[in-house]
Amino acid sequence: MVWGLYNIKGTGRQDMVTQVEEIRQRIENSRKSSLLAAEGVTLLGASKAQGVEVIEACIRAGVADFGENRVQEAQAKWPEIKRKYSQVRLHLIGPLQSNKAGEAVALFDIIQSVDREKLVDALVKEMRAQGRDLPCYVQVNTGAEEQKAGVRPEAAGAFIGYCRAAGLHVAGLMCVPPVGQHAAPHFALLAKMAAEHGISQLSMGMSDDFETAVRMGATCVRVGRALFGERLD
Ligand SMILES: *Cc1c(COP(=O)(O)O)cnc(C)c1O
Repeated sequence: MVWGLYNIKGTGRQDMVTQVEEIRQRIENSRKSSLLAAEGVTLLGASKAQGVEVIEACIRAGVADFGENRVQEAQAKWPEIKRKYSQVRLHLIGPLQSNKAGEAVALFDIIQSVDREKLVDALVKEMRAQGRDLPCYVQVNTGAEEQKAGVRPEAAGAFIGYCRAAGLHVAGLMCVPPVGQHAAPHFALLAKMAAEHGISQLSMGMSDDFETAVRMGATCVRVGRALFGERLD
């Protein structure tokens, strides 16, 4: 993967401003159209495979939350960006190996992909060692897909209990619905599980379905292609 490569309508400041405004407008329209929608929805730029320049254009256009999938790629891009824009929050939205927990805790502000006890233990240990207390999201494999990250829905209750007992701050739930299925039932399941467990944040919805997610109560939508253009990776 070449991180500097991107194919984007919005590399220039003005184009990016227009793109961000359009997505914010779509979020707001969806929010107003549903009684289930949250009061506020965070637009998270899913910036995997995007270069520093385009990410900075997006920050200048007003986006303050970004998600990266790989620790290594984030380490190559984000220390420089964070030095310039200290207000930005960096979320880890891809799978995390427990042996990378230390690096993740040092760089990220929010971990959205917590799904295994071993990872919970590693995160808790690293947060204590580094004196950091990051909000975490439990990723739920709502489609119970074989290869997919996330805890199975039937195991989520016990897993959330494990996280809390270990001292992890479970701020939210996150899901990536199966490709080729209607996303709405998956979003509904995630929202129901969050309500059952007293969890307030819901990270759900991507470029093709963020409006549905907002109508169903998303507090964070993770938008890549609709914001940055198609990826070339
Ligand atoms: C890439 C990615 C997104 C954004 O996907 P788009 O379809 O480009 O909007 C959101 N969430 C996760 C976990 C991703 O890996």
